[in-house]
Amino acid sequence: MAKNIQAIRGMHDVLPGESAQWQFLETRVRDVLNRYGYEEIRMPIVEFTELFKRSIGEVTDIVEKEMYTFDDRNGDSLTLRPEGTAGCVRAAMENGLLHNQTQRLWYQGPMFRHERPQKGRYRQFHQVGVETFGLAGPDIDAELILLSARLWRELGVQGLQLQLNSLGTLQERKTYRAVLIDYFSAHADQLDEDSQRRLHSNPLRILDSKNPKMAELVAQAPSLNDHLGDQSRAHFEALCGRLDECGVEYILNPRLVRGLDYYSLTVFEWVTDELGAQGTVCAGGRYDGLVEQLGGRATPAVGFAMGLERLLAVMQAQDALPQTARADAYLVLMGEKAERAGLALAERLRDALPGLRLLTHCGGGGFKAQFKRADRSGARVALILGEDELARGQISIKYLREELPQENMAIDDLAQHLAARVQIQESSK
Ligand code: ATP
Ligand code: MG
Repeated sequence: MAKNIQAIRGMHDVLPGESAQWQFLETRVRDVLNRYGYEEIRMPIVEFTELFKRSIGEVTDIVEKEMYTFDDRNGDSLTLRPEGTAGCVRAAMENGLLHNQTQRLWYQGPMFRHERPQKGRYRQFHQVGVETFGLAGPDIDAELILLSARLWRELGVQGLQLQLNSLGTLQERKTYRAVLIDYFSAHADQLDEDSQRRLHSNPLRILDSKNPKMAELVAQAPSLNDHLGDQSRAHFEALCGRLDECGVEYILNPRLVRGLDYYSLTVFEWVTDELGAQGTVCAGGRYDGLVEQLGGRATPAVGFAMGLERLLAVMQAQDALPQTARADAYLVLMGEKAERAGLALAERLRDALPGLRLLTHCGGGGFKAQFKRADRSGARVALILGEDELARGQISIKYLREELPQENMAIDDLAQHLAARVQIQESSK
């Protein structure tokens, strides 16, 4: 027999049960973003490869070895998006969203990177990304961080640490680059293979090395902070001041450089120690040069992206995810006449009680089998319609989670009765 085809390594199905957790997370996130006035933008999942090369940078992990790139039937080189910022900037430029206006945007969806799969690191993973355009000051940097801090509060996530750094301007990084090359050249024998290759092409990325053998060397390296100019310093101090005023705690981490080339000035990460090596759940920063780099007019921009799998893993570890039942009520139908009347009755109940989550039994079967399903659905009550009862216009309610006696009533009174007894969710807007 042929072997069953399996999912691609590092790509996962979200199964029933888990999907309710995803929906909980996504709904809360969307709600917070709405309340700050951010608008959703949806971009294609595939873009021209050139877009990622030009924005993320040729000498980065993503572009060098992680992209899913292929030629389509016209011979164009396309890539499954490894992140959302490049596509978001492309879409904003192409649709004229950047001229003389400011934008606060967000998006969500799958991203693709050919990495070594492990806990918290997958080949298809999901991000919510937030990007703002046309705002140059530290006030918007602060707003983004406050927004993310509120997300953690409203999701019930605890213990995330905010790490903050400034990368300065392009010019300041150039000066620093030369200093770094001198330093690492003097210790060339201690550089791993990746770092040797990057020494002259992108030495800042050596600071981002994940190799523990490099940690000591990186820790001793000269700090970019000592090479910041007055304006960069002022921007960073203003941001820190605003965070202080709003009571947001942070740690200054001069080694925080981020893996992508397009950042400038502010960079930050929210980190947990509960996920082992994959501890960053959210990362972002300012990228004032990117729009121009992609051929647009210079436009200040700042944003962040969070990894939803990692966030969910923290929420699972911290028991922050609600146990949601599938249904409020389960309609048990005994006999063919009841089964037929049941469908119509269920529709009437749904009309009368818009938030009611009602599961109608399908497929026949005895009492025992039907009650087993009712129980598994998590419903608080079973509504029992048998042929005799139907003939008398009656129905019964059996409480599945509480020690309450079974009740009988006229079918016509059922909706009113349920409204009083079963807590029905507000229907989602
Ligand atoms: P890392 O340093 O962990 O590789 P990164 O710097 O490559 O992360 P970003 O490109 O900044 O990550 O993406 C933002 C967020 O997306 C990360 O902080 C993380 O939560 C999530 N993320 C990135 N890559 C993956 C992946 N392969 N699997 C799951 N989540 C990921
Ligand atoms: Mg990475």
